[in-house]
Amino acid sequence: MASGAMTPYPGNVPVWTNTNNCKACDICVSVCPSGVLGMRYDSTSTLGAMISIDHPEACIGCNECELTCPDFAIYVASKAEYKFAKLTDDAKERQAQIVANNYMSLDQQGVK
Ligand code: SF4
Ligand code: SF4
Repeated sequence: MASGAMTPYPGNVPVWTNTNNCKACDICVSVCPSGVLGMRYDSTSTLGAMISIDHPEACIGCNECELTCPDFAIYVASKAEYKFAKLTDDAKERQAQIVANNYMSLDQQGVK
């Protein structure tokens, strides 16, 4: 695991979040190469959206989300903790669609 203000590993997941810290900035969604992440509308969030892990099975464990999150709100398991996927063309295409959808999850429409 990386250093920082960690939340404990919940077990058997590649990536997890602390939604109390998330500011819905979209950065992690933008850097994920594998279409794992997206934003979802959330009326209880002051920013109107919240990070969502939509495709954990596609996570390749690159750590980009954790390294770029400014608010210590997303964490990636170590390679000892989890067996990550390999990057596929389908995952890359999904990521392109998420970016084109303004970083929203693909079942959410429009701008947050
Ligand atoms: S570790 Fe990499 S592949 Fe997994 S969610 Fe984070 S950015 Fe995406
Ligand atoms: S980079 Fe961090 S604060 Fe920004 S949307 Fe992702 S989890 Fe939330």
